[in-house]
Amino acid sequence: MGSILRRPEDLGLESGSVILTFDDGPVGEGKTEALLDLLSLHAVRAGFCVIGRQVERHPDLCRRIHEAGHLLVNHSFVHLSPMALSEAELMADIERCDAAIGAALNDPGYRSRWYRPPGGILTQAVERVLVRTGKSVYPITSFAWDIFPFPGNQWRIATSLRDDLKRQRAGVYILHEWIYPMMAPPAGQPLKPGPCPWLLPVVEGFIAEVQRQGGAFVEPDRLP
Ligand SMILES: [Zn+2]
Repeated sequence: MGSILRRPEDLGLESGSVILTFDDGPVGEGKTEALLDLLSLHAVRAGFCVIGRQVERHPDLCRRIHEAGHLLVNHSFVHLSPMALSEAELMADIERCDAAIGAALNDPGYRSRWYRPPGGILTQAVERVLVRTGKSVYPITSFAWDIFPFPGNQWRIATSLRDDLKRQRAGVYILHEWIYPMMAPPAGQPLKPGPCPWLLPVVEGFIAEVQRQGGAFVEPDRLP
């Protein structure tokens, strides 16, 4: 089993080049909207790794993400671990996410160029499906472990991002709009994603930190 973690130099990212990505949305409830407002304020274009099921709930937000110039990345339809699905199920799940995005954008032939597997889990079946669908993995270069609701997360995640940027000088950074499970809930129980109340201050602080370190946000599709 592989992962989607890469080194910035393997992605051809020059020193100072930074890409922000946001996974598991669009959440709605004013949260994605506030994130989009913040990115717009700072003229930052990001990658949004969206879940098809969430796109179906918030097609208007999916359209707004696209129209603001952000990159939409297929992040599956149901957000189950790739290890829980057969190759045929994986294929259908990925195509269903593309179809949800296509419906939101009023573009029935829409196909995402990029796919980020739930959990960043890269299996041989995922790799075969990517070849068959002509997609590439959308990687990350570091992970600030923002998916666990630890106390003090805002400080911890901000510090992790800052230190990683100092060390690697470039990168594709992942943050979550909320914490979406990778397993189906027990029968009869609702699926309950966890909140990420630290997201907006962390993003605002990181944008300032990139500027302080002399970096710049580059187009999110500028990867090989
Ligand atoms: Zn995810």
